[in-house]
Amino acid sequence: MLLEAKGIEKSYNSLSVLKGIDMSIAPAEIVSIVGASGAGKSTLLQILGTLDSPDKGHVSLSGELYTQMSGKKLSHFRNEYIGFIFQFHNLLPEFTALENICMPAMIGKKDPNQYKKRAEELMELLAIEHRKDHKPSQMSGGEQQRAAVARALINNPKVIFADEPSGNLDSVNAESLHELFFDLRKELDQTFVIVTHNNEFAEMADRKLEMKDGLII
Ligand code: ADP
Ligand code: ADP
Repeated sequence: MLLEAKGIEKSYNSLSVLKGIDMSIAPAEIVSIVGASGAGKSTLLQILGTLDSPDKGHVSLSGELYTQMSGKKLSHFRNEYIGFIFQFHNLLPEFTALENICMPAMIGKKDPNQYKKRAEELMELLAIEHRKDHKPSQMSGGEQQRAAVARALINNPKVIFADEPSGNLDSVNAESLHELFFDLRKELDQTFVIVTHNNEFAEMADRKLEMKDGLII
């Protein structure tokens, strides 16, 4: 298994949000997570993605237990192995698409010649190469989100976590984003864990996990 979570529990004050989550994700798998608002989906995704830590339980990626890491080691681990896509693209407005896409590689102090080449290849794969020097405000919503996907891919992460990635797109752009995830799996063996309210996409995934009251049912 690529990713394994065991016994994940999380509370906010007296509110118990995750009540013992066990799950595993295989390499190149596309898993959807669904459930009502407040079910704990975002909290789970943040814990799986190292952005938050559980009160109990642990998560490992490629056998590396990261719920016990902290500080620089954890930041490095996150930057190297995990990609994120959010509902709102979170591109930095003052930078071009290319610069935004390169950001995680720049933070990881990679070789600029290599990551620029990789970014250009990704932009081509995602059909946004003509937007290389454009700022986010000069791009359509669908193009902005594809740039956010390219940014998530720049360091060849082992897994990409996406929280409502198509939640802010119209149905045409949403559908093409969903198709893109399957293309990327085919081309790059990319693994995805995606929280979504889009039923059609949730059903298309290899596996649909439904959350209710802090558990996977
Ligand atoms: P979902 O993504 O399924 O809508 P969330 O994980 O965002 O669910 O939230 C689950 C519950 O935890 C909600 O009741 C939410 O208000 C609460 N919650 C989430 N994050 C926090 C936080 N940082 N502080 C306090 N309560 C939180
Ligand atoms: P979703 O649309 O997935 O349900 P939310 O709008 O519930 O997401 O939450 C967005 C972010 O805000 C999440 O990272 C969540 O952890 C945080 N959050 C949710 N509820 C609360 C809360 N009551 N207090 C603080 N942070 C919260």
